[in-house]
Amino acid sequence: MSESLPARAQYRPALTAALDAALAFLHGLPTRPAGVVDSGEVPAPPEGIGAEAALEHFRRHYEPRLSGSAGPRYFGFVTGGATPAALAGDWLASAYDQNVSNTIGSAAAALEQATTSAYARLFGLGEEFAGYFVSGATQSNTVALATARQWLYAQRGHDVAEQGLAGAPRLRVLGGAPHSSILKAAAILGIGRRHVEVLRCLPGRTAVDPDALAERLADGGERPTLVVASAGEVNTGDFDDIAALAALCRRHDAWLHVDGAFGLFAALDAAQAGRLAGLALADSVTVDLHKWLNVPYDSALVYTRHPSLQRQVFRASAAYLGDTPDPLHYTPENSRRFRALPAWFALAAYGRKGIGEVVRRNCALARRLGEGLAALPAIEVLDEVRLNIVCFALREGDAAARDRFLERLLADGRAFMTPTVYTGRPAVRAAIANWSTTEADIDLTLQAVRAALAAA
Ligand SMILES: *Cc1c(COP(=O)(O)O)cnc(C)c1O
Repeated sequence: MSESLPARAQYRPALTAALDAALAFLHGLPTRPAGVVDSGEVPAPPEGIGAEAALEHFRRHYEPRLSGSAGPRYFGFVTGGATPAALAGDWLASAYDQNVSNTIGSAAAALEQATTSAYARLFGLGEEFAGYFVSGATQSNTVALATARQWLYAQRGHDVAEQGLAGAPRLRVLGGAPHSSILKAAAILGIGRRHVEVLRCLPGRTAVDPDALAERLADGGERPTLVVASAGEVNTGDFDDIAALAALCRRHDAWLHVDGAFGLFAALDAAQAGRLAGLALADSVTVDLHKWLNVPYDSALVYTRHPSLQRQVFRASAAYLGDTPDPLHYTPENSRRFRALPAWFALAAYGRKGIGEVVRRNCALARRLGEGLAALPAIEVLDEVRLNIVCFALREGDAAARDRFLERLLADGRAFMTPTVYTGRPAVRAAIANWSTTEADIDLTLQAVRAALAAA
């Protein structure tokens, strides 16, 4: 039997070697560079060398150049790692390899529904919200906006899923600081990026001014409108006043979508949960699980209180599929992986208490980082540290100086952060969402920042 042909007997050596590689990587995360400078391609491997040799080739040529993004000092974007239970669930999801497109012949879809319900309760969403697993918050926002579009047109006697957009009035999307994925969703759905209208925010904040929304809603005439609220704005972790926005949406027959990709986890911290007041009044809600829950990519949830409209958009009609409650009628995919299993494991293993503890710890660490940065004369912290994000700028210098600072930080390797622009100013943001980050990691990060500043 050739090594290069699959055989059942190869599972054990292949998976044992993969386990060894994974453990070496995971235990090395605290000391691995947070980001790498050299990320180029290497020549393709020879073919047909067998699973173990393929793994060896990969470990030689690529693994040393992978980032430590799953580790404790990667603060770019909003990035979580993977807890032990979540990773075990993820591996098993691949081993079980269930197609959760349907409910026939497997309990996998039942586990998914039980999991989306359990997370709804965790976030304070009632039973009127139906949830589905999708690959990320971008996809979740897209599904939510597609359902909103169906609802807005249905109110005007137009079934856009059946009839298409021709002849339908233009939609508009209103928000104070919508995430870029909202623009992407608008492009995908034929709403158009240009019809995402960014409204005035409260002074010094990235939360929308409810008066600005009230004015825009009042002067929109009959224009069908979708309002996107941020629950955790990506630059500073700011929150829109969801209850105020919900009241305005009710009055003007607008749909309210809440993008809580990471901020929905504020529900798990008693000191932060008030920021989500009014959440249950939303029409749809997005939350990422591969960020703050620390399950591996790719995992997010979309919730809506209008699943029948969601089904009108996403239903897959074919004689052999039937009229069933199958997930494939509610999401962009037909075939879907057993994505719920890592999230199910995370909740079963750690519970509300353990998941909430990570949230509270990360928020405390963000405050510690903010205080440490504010004590450096060269740095100005640009906003109050609200949740788990610190947004700061160099007191001197332009965007190029900021970029050189970030390049030195990347080369140093002890911490990773990403650039942004905050109220017109070139800035840096650090988001803390990894379960394993400690106070010692924050202190190491501050050392790395000081070194990157000194090298200027
Ligand atoms: C990260 C993020 C998204 C996009 O999420 P992906 O999982 O990368 O698709 C959308 N909205 C907000 C507020 C986010 O933080």
